[in-house]
Parts: sequence; structure tokens; C-alpha cells
Amino acid sequence: MRYITTIIIGAGQSGLAMSKHLTDRSIDHVLLERGGVANSWQTERWDSLRLLTPNWQSRLPGYAYEGNDPNGYMRVTEVVGYLKRYAEVSGAPVQAHTKVTRVRQSDTGYAVTTDQGMWRCQTLVVASGACNIATVPAVAGGLLPGIASLTPMQYRNPESLPDGGVLIVGASATGVQLAREIRASGRSVMLAAGEHVRVPRIYRGRDIKWWMDAMGAMDLRYDAIEDIERARRLPSLQLIGTPGRENIDLNGLRKAGVEIVGRVAGLRDGKLQFSASLPNHCALADLKMNRLLTSIDAWIFATEQQDRFPASHRFEPTEIDPQTRLGMDLNDGSVRTVIWATGYRPDYSWLDVPVFDRKGRIRHNGGVVAVPGMYVMGLPFMRRRKSSFIDGAADDAADLAAHLTLGLRRLAA
Ligand SMILES: Cc1cc2nc3c(=O)[nH]c(=O)nc-3n(C[C@H](O)[C@H](O)[C@H](O)COP(=O)(O)OP(=O)(O)OC[C@H]3O[C@@H](n4cnc5c(N)ncnc54)[C@H](O)[C@@H]3O)c2cc1C
Repeated sequence: MRYITTIIIGAGQSGLAMSKHLTDRSIDHVLLERGGVANSWQTERWDSLRLLTPNWQSRLPGYAYEGNDPNGYMRVTEVVGYLKRYAEVSGAPVQAHTKVTRVRQSDTGYAVTTDQGMWRCQTLVVASGACNIATVPAVAGGLLPGIASLTPMQYRNPESLPDGGVLIVGASATGVQLAREIRASGRSVMLAAGEHVRVPRIYRGRDIKWWMDAMGAMDLRYDAIEDIERARRLPSLQLIGTPGRENIDLNGLRKAGVEIVGRVAGLRDGKLQFSASLPNHCALADLKMNRLLTSIDAWIFATEQQDRFPASHRFEPTEIDPQTRLGMDLNDGSVRTVIWATGYRPDYSWLDVPVFDRKGRIRHNGGVVAVPGMYVMGLPFMRRRKSSFIDGAADDAADLAAHLTLGLRRLAA
């Protein structure tokens, strides 16, 4: 049995950022990590993935991108290298290849069981990731046995798919990126799109992420939002990071030959039904994109920077094929693989502490969990809009490390 003040579970950016703040505050701690540093980036992403956030927007406490392409988008191998270097320079006390199998409350804090022995700690930071499990809707269970059913965590590249057509379900960042790549490999691809968030890569000469950062939109706090539950459920932006800083949207995918259909509404006897709501979802996505662009224009005007940027403009509305089909028979053999790009969720199967709501989510207030001395990091819109991004870990970790330190001081007193 080993004793330590604080245990951080997970050595991704969230755990590492928290570790840096605890080190700066001289709080002894360890990061327990089932793989190596940046394990999720290294083992759970597809081969061609690049960040959709620009390189400069990977700021961590006391660390920033210093390469020669600040406006580019790191490949996933570069992200792993970037985080590994951060762990080194910040001296993060990572105990790798240590899987946490159970956490329960004890008299003095928490008892943490791992496959490498037991630990006890006063305070615990759950930084084990928001995307441990790919969410797959129940209809997947009705797929015919001859059709491969994959999640984005299993997908690696088009060559590793069975021959034949591919249906991708979900048109957020993951779904549109996979549709683009698999179509470019020469396959027939169908994309089922429900609610999605359309944004251009570049607007008025700058990356959309630059605008959102400059306007303070990424710093928006969880307690300033009217419907935080909804904000936390919003799909990721339709964006891709490419060397040419290309746009990705349903119009472009359609032109490239991807067939766009509505969201999967049902599956019976091998027959898929697609919702007729596609035009509504697209109209709403266009409306919201234009609202965002209008807010950028207004910000430029209010800050008197009109001369600094090219003129305002708008993008083509999403075109809907009047022949969009509302169903298809999977028995006809045209689709051989279905990829469920329908979101991700955390895995807390090892957390044996009564902190969950009825949907299995950790109850917390901006990362401060509803039991003494426990914190969580990296969840969508946890304290700020940027909480689940690399760039969001620093501010959240600073706030939560301050809260944690105060709690320890109170205990000591
Ligand atoms: C496909 C995809 C693309 C993304 N692209 C971007 C992007 O472009 N820009 C951006 O800023 N963000 C992006 N994100 C969001 C976010 O940055 C990543 O999800 C990131 O990995 C989250 O970091 P984290 O440290 O919170 O969690 P993780 O990176 O998941 O780290 C958690 C760590 O905890 C470990 N762990 C989990 N359970 C246990 C256990 N029981 N015992 C021990 N260790 C455990 C894991 O091995 C892992 O190393 C993307 C996410 C996904 C899924």
C-alpha cells in the first residue's frame, strides 16, 4: 500500500496540466496511467488524423507549440510527441502501465486499486478522458451478420476495411472526416447526417478557431450559460485540419461523390430507414453558421478593425438532393461496412463512489465533484467551452488546483 496526497488518473493533456499546477504548488502526487503518456492519442485514433485546432492553440501550463507551422494542424503522432515532451519538461510523475481497476472512499480520502498494487490518497483527480467509449446506437444490433460494424476507435484507414460500400452514421467532425477519406480512396460512401454544426475553416482571412479565441467564445464559462446541459451535448464542429486549410461540409462531400442521407431512424429485417429531417437539420446548421459569422462581423466592427481583415461574405447554403432517399435495403450488398461516428463517452466502470446522476454522468460543479476531495477534468464544457480541448486544460487545471489546495489546507487546519 502506498500513500500520497493526490492521485491523478490519466496522463493525457488534462492529467498533465493538473500535474504541472500541483507541482508548482508543491503538492506531492502521482499520475496513474494504464498505457503511456498520451495513450488515447496513440492507441485510439485513426492513422491520418490531424488536429482540427491550429498548432498555436495547443497551449499548456508553461508550454506552447514552438514549431515552424503555428497555423498548421499536428498529425496525431506529433500530438503524442508534443505531450510526451511536455511530460518530460514539466517533470510529471507518471506511473505508466498502471491500470486503475477500482476507486472507493476511505476514512481519509480514497483507496485506489490498480493492477500494480494499492494506493491511498487524500484527493483524487479523474483525468481519464471524456472519449473512452464510442457510442453506438441500439439499431447497430440489427445489422446483418455479413456487414462489418465499426466505431471510429476501431477504424484505422480505408485499406483495412472490407471491400465494398461504406455507410458512415453521424456528420460531426469524425463522421465528415472519415467520409472524405474513404470516398477519396475510391469507395462508394453514404453519410447519414442528423444535427450538426457547420463552420468554415477560414473566414475573413483567419481560422475559425482564431476568431472564436479572439472573441473570447472559447472562454465562455459553464455558469454563464442558460442551458448548460444542452451546451454539453452539442456535436463537435464540422472541421478538418489539412495542410491546405480546406473546408469540410456536406456540399463539398456531396460534390466529391458522397451520398448524404438523413439520420438513421430505424433498421428492420435489413432495411434501414433514414429520417426526413435532413433539410431541417441542414437549414438549422446554415442558420447557426451565419449567426456565428454575423457575430464575428459585429466584433470586428465594434473593435474598429474593419481595415485589418478582408470583407464580410457568406457561404452557399447546404444543397439538398430532392431525390434524397429515405431508406435502403442492406440485403442488396451495396454497403459492406457501417461506421458509427455517433459520439463518445467516458468509462467510469472502475469508479465505485456514489457520484453519478441517473444517466451515469459524474455530478460536478465546474469539475468539483459532489464528494470531498474529488475532481474531474476534460469533460465537454466542464468549466469553459474549451474544457475538452488541449487548449482548455490549462485554465481548468489552474482553477481546480487552487480549489484542491484550499481543501487540503482546511483539512490540515
Ligand atoms: C477523434 C478526436 C479528435 C480530437 N481532436 C481534437 C483537436 O483537434 N483538438 C483538441 O484540442 N482536442 C481534440 N479532441 C478532444 C480532446 O483533446 C481529446 O479527447 C483528448 O484526448 C482529451 O484529453 P484528456 O487528457 O482529457 O483525456 P485522454 O487523452 O483520453 O487521457 C486520459 C488518459 O487516462 C488513461 N486512463 C483511462 N482510464 C484509465 C484507468 N482506469 N487507469 C489508468 N489510466 C486510465 C488513458 O489511457 C488516457 O491516457 C479530439 C478528440 C477525439 C476523440
